[in-house]
Parts: sequence; C-alpha cells; structure tokens
Amino acid sequence: MTDAATLLPEDEARAQVLALATPLSSEWVAVDEGLGRTLAEDIVAQRTLPPWDNSAMDGYAVRAADLAGPLPVRLPVLETIYAGAAPHHEVRPGTCSRIMTGAPLPVGADAVVMRERARAVPDGGADRVDLTEAVEAGHFVRPRGEDAREGEVLLARGTPLGIPELGLLWAQGLGAIAVPRRPRVAILSTGDELCRADEPPRGRIVDTNAPSLALAVRRAGGTPSLLGIARDTRDAVAEALGRAEGFDVVLTSAGVSVGERDYVKEVLAALGVQQHLWRVAIKPGKPLVVGQRGGTLFFGLPGNPTSSLVTFELFVRPALRRMLGHVDVAPPRVTGRLDGRLTKPPGLAHFVRVTAAWREGGLWAKPLATQTSGALRSAAAATHLLRFPRDASSLAHGDLVELLPLSWVA
Ligand code: AMP
Ligand code: MG
Repeated sequence: MTDAATLLPEDEARAQVLALATPLSSEWVAVDEGLGRTLAEDIVAQRTLPPWDNSAMDGYAVRAADLAGPLPVRLPVLETIYAGAAPHHEVRPGTCSRIMTGAPLPVGADAVVMRERARAVPDGGADRVDLTEAVEAGHFVRPRGEDAREGEVLLARGTPLGIPELGLLWAQGLGAIAVPRRPRVAILSTGDELCRADEPPRGRIVDTNAPSLALAVRRAGGTPSLLGIARDTRDAVAEALGRAEGFDVVLTSAGVSVGERDYVKEVLAALGVQQHLWRVAIKPGKPLVVGQRGGTLFFGLPGNPTSSLVTFELFVRPALRRMLGHVDVAPPRVTGRLDGRLTKPPGLAHFVRVTAAWREGGLWAKPLATQTSGALRSAAAATHLLRFPRDASSLAHGDLVELLPLSWVA
C-alpha cells in the first residue's frame, strides 16, 4: 500500500511539469494556419483601421448642433453615400446626407441619426427629411483607428490566436506570422496483451490508447507520431524508445505501475532520462511518471484507457500548450452543483466523470454510474471531470463543485 500522504498533489505535479516545458522555436505560417497558436513576435500595425470615421447605421449624417433645438428638424439631403463610395459634399450647417452602414462620414458631419428616427418629406421632388431625434456628436460614428492605429503594437507576443485575432491580422494585409512550432510527440504503447486495431485480436486486446492519444495530441496542437507497440521486456521497450530521438515529447502508455513486468520507469532511467516525478495523488492516474532528457519531455502514462486520457488532460495537454506559447495552460474550470452524492476515503483527489448540463440557472453535474478506469464507456459519456478534493470524503446533493470541461468530447 502506498502511503497517500507521500504522493504529489495534482497542482504541484502540474507546476513541476510546466517548469520543464518552454515555448518551442518559432516558424512562419500562413495566417490561416495560426488558429490556436500564439504570436512569437509583437505585431505592429501597418494600417490604420478603419481608415476613416464611418457610419455604424443606415441613416443620416448630420451636425449634432443642428438638432439641438425643437424637433423634428427638417433638413435638405445632399446625397446618398453608400458603403465603398466616397462622399461628394460637405455637410454644412442646416444640411445632411443619407448614409449607409460602413460608408465614410462626410466632412462637416459629426453624428448619424438612424433611419428609423427620420421621416421622408413627400413634397415637390426635393430630397428632404424630418429628423425626430437629437443626437450627441459621435453618435453611431465608428471612429477612424478603432481597430488599429499605424505604428502601435496591435497584438503582443504571446497572444493566443482566436478567430477575431486572425481577422485583425488579415485586415493588416499580413500573409504569414511567426509562431512557436508545433510540438512533435512520439507515442508508444507497451504491453504483451496488445494488438493493433487492424489485426485480428486472437485473445489480445486492441491498443486503443495510442490512437486516442494521437488525436488528443492533435487537438492540443501537437503533431503525433506512432511508435507502435512494445512487448513487456526491457529490450523491447528500450529498442522502441531508442526510436524516439528528436521528439519534443514522448508519451508511453502502461507499464508504469508496480506490476512485475512494468519496465517503463527502469528503461527510461537506463536511457538517461532524469525522473522528475512519479505518482500523483489522483484517481484515476496515480502512477504517472514524468522525466526529461535534453529537450525531450517523457510522460509515462498509465495503461488503463481512461487513466491515460485523464492524465493527458491534467498534465500533458498543459505542457503541449505551454510549448505552443500559451500562458494560461491549466485545465479550464467552471463551477457547478453536484446532482447526487459522492463518498470516498481521503488521500487522493478523485476526478469523477460526470455529465453536466445547464438546468434551473446553473450547471448540474451528474456522476456516471461506471467510474472504473479500465472502462472507456463512462469516459465516452462524460462532459466534465468533477474534482473531488483530496482531503474531502463526502459531497452532498447541491454542493458547489469544480468541473473541468473535457477536451476529448465531440
Ligand atoms: P498496465 O499499466 O500495464 O498495468 O495496464 C493497465 C490496464 O490497461 C491493463 O488492463 C491493460 O490491458 C490496459 N492497457 C494497457 N495498454 C493499453 C492500450 N494501449 N490500449 C488499451 N488498453 C491498454
Ligand atoms: Mg501491462
């Protein structure tokens, strides 16, 4: 029996892992390829955007001072300015121009009255309008430079690139950006009982961990390579790990527990991998091993399918995101309420698979019936992991709980 008190707490283990992971060297990619990456350099705006004050509404470009008296105010309409066209007339006192959303504000105008606050005057062919609302200067005007001003740092180094960020980059006319390159991740399954998914099992079980981890790596922004299946001998594991040269991260699955043929730790040590941690105070996932040699980070993940996925979420994914340049890499958390009751002995933090759904103004988390780490089925139905704290032994219906949204869901 392990003395649970000697095991590393989850957050300390993650801090140790992250201390070993730094952003990788940068590469140039097309802006379209930047989604989910981070900027390796500051982006300085080359263009002021929008380049001119423009209208935020379909309506009338006016001088706000013209509307300060009794309403409605009747004004002649000088022209209609469409988006993409230039105004031809200055709006002098006592005049206005019809304007469409996005069209440049004409000289002289300082505000826009929306079309719904105007009535066309139906007489004599002259284009005139009754404006029924007073507006302040700047009303419905999108000012020049609202999105970018030439020469300013538009997006700082380290900024994570979501879709609007890419929009800002496209608008600047940028074709390529420098971002930390994707981590290259080798994945090795170990176990005498395993066969590939495309082989007839003949009494063996299908290696689901390696292809699952490969997808998890890709989702986290890494580039996976499969090293195959190593049999449970020192030589086979050593030979396979010898093929993991040049990778940023090596993931192994299984063989890290205290079983008689659990050779992964021993072989890693023999290959000169410095072990930084072994065993974390969590369930599932306790036997996790983390080591480093040169620029390569090694994770010995447990073999049970759900344990390998949970340890990936808690430790590997944050490390990959850090390599991609992200600063905020801890698993995301939200607060919810427990729908049900949970008990456990103190000593390990449990990550309970739950389905969480919004109900009656809050997120309610219902534990799945199966919680064994060997079963993939409950991982399949789960939307979140509920963190049942290490020292707690019971949680009651309605208790506030910490929930980790899972990255492996559809
Ligand atoms: P171990 O860590 O070697 O004790 O393995 C724990 C459990 O995980 C055993 O039931 C294994 O059969 C299972 N297992 C190990 N590796 C894999 C894998 N690559 N895919 C699916 N199940 C696995
Ligand atoms: Mg085994």
